[in-house]
Amino acid sequence: MIYIHFPFCKSFCTYCGFYSVRERDKIGKYTESLLREIDLRKAFLCQCTRPSTLYIGGGTPSLWPVEQLEEVVRAISAVLQGETVSDYVNSNGHSGSTISGDAAGIFPFAEFTVEVNPDDVTEEYALALRRLGVNRVSMGVQSFCDRSLRWMARRHGAAEAVEAFRVLRSAGFGNISLDLIFGYDPVLQDAADSADGNVLAGHPCVSEFSDRGMAREFHGTSDEELMRLWDNDLETIMRLRPEHISAYQMGLDEGSVLGEMASSGRYREPSDELCAAQYSLLQRRLASAGYVQYEVSNFSLPGRRAVHNSGYWDRSPYIGLGPGAHSFDGDRRRSWNVPDVDRYIAAFGDSAALPPVASGSSGDSGASGSFGFLGLLSVASGEVLTEEDILTETVMLALRTVDGLPLLRLPRFMQASIDRLLSTGSLILRDGRLRIPPDRLFISDSIIRELLP
Ligand code: SF4
Repeated sequence: MIYIHFPFCKSFCTYCGFYSVRERDKIGKYTESLLREIDLRKAFLCQCTRPSTLYIGGGTPSLWPVEQLEEVVRAISAVLQGETVSDYVNSNGHSGSTISGDAAGIFPFAEFTVEVNPDDVTEEYALALRRLGVNRVSMGVQSFCDRSLRWMARRHGAAEAVEAFRVLRSAGFGNISLDLIFGYDPVLQDAADSADGNVLAGHPCVSEFSDRGMAREFHGTSDEELMRLWDNDLETIMRLRPEHISAYQMGLDEGSVLGEMASSGRYREPSDELCAAQYSLLQRRLASAGYVQYEVSNFSLPGRRAVHNSGYWDRSPYIGLGPGAHSFDGDRRRSWNVPDVDRYIAAFGDSAALPPVASGSSGDSGASGSFGFLGLLSVASGEVLTEEDILTETVMLALRTVDGLPLLRLPRFMQASIDRLLSTGSLILRDGRLRIPPDRLFISDSIIRELLP
């Protein structure tokens, strides 16, 4: 499993606390630094091919010029096929790459996903991704209500999202995932009414787009209206019939505009009852349309589970490349790159400044051996998980999935809390596996908290 973090966005969405920046003039340097990171970490990269997935996330990866994306994908493929990045760069002429017309020479990933935003999807772009071997697209739609989208400060409207889906389908994508968000109150208000006097105007996170649609005062929307909006979102997504749907409850992320609005009393989240009702409607509607829920937030048509994300829940090893990306050795070592594009470029962009890394140091003789560079550079940090951390992580990840986890893997001292939760119906035991029943998945976090020591 290989993950690349592309940390650039054109503007920031109201609810988002992910690390990303708007300085797109740095994308070229970022790409060069990524090539260097791939080279430095090639030994560990080669250990992360089961499952064989490549996932480009962000940020907004659809802002990445396809020629640069192709260069990085070809470099990774070269490394996986036993070449070095410098061989690859020298023989191809760095920065001179162009889409060659097919995916020849590109490692055949079982699943190669790129996240896209609807406003970036053109026919040309979609076809270029196909030629690069991308076989799955994940598109952040979030809602099919224009006013909700404006409130979220998304850069697209509902019709644009539907059109982007059509373009992806006509380009030949047979595996498309769409994201939706529920559990928010869009404080519906005409954009024109809220353009002035917005206390968040001038906030560093608020783009020109997000200045519009913000309420001056919080006036909650009725529960009936919120249910109606959500019903409409579900109706529309079922008509499109993507192979995969991820639906997340909106949170108050630290550093987000929404988090700031909530702490200053200008936004109130809808009640837990309303969010639970929306979640239940989601489960019922998608089940009736033939979707299978396989994780708290994920639904797919049969055989279309996300292979890459499922690997995270199984604790498979993965490498994360780019600023802020995390890596895991599949056992107890975790590392992460600092979420700072400038520091990332400063460290990886100038190869002469880097200490040498023993080639082929893929053993487990220390953090640098496991991850390729950890401990050698100031841009990475890491931790070694304790037995307790591993147990907590295993339970938290597995119980969010409908497959659950084998009872036998749990230590004896948890038996009392397991019995209690079984007796109240918060857990079920089937075929030797503990699971949270579908009608309680919405409160899975509190069930898991009760279970863990
Ligand atoms: S949700 Fe919006 S701000 Fe956050 S990463 Fe996606 S496009 Fe960027």
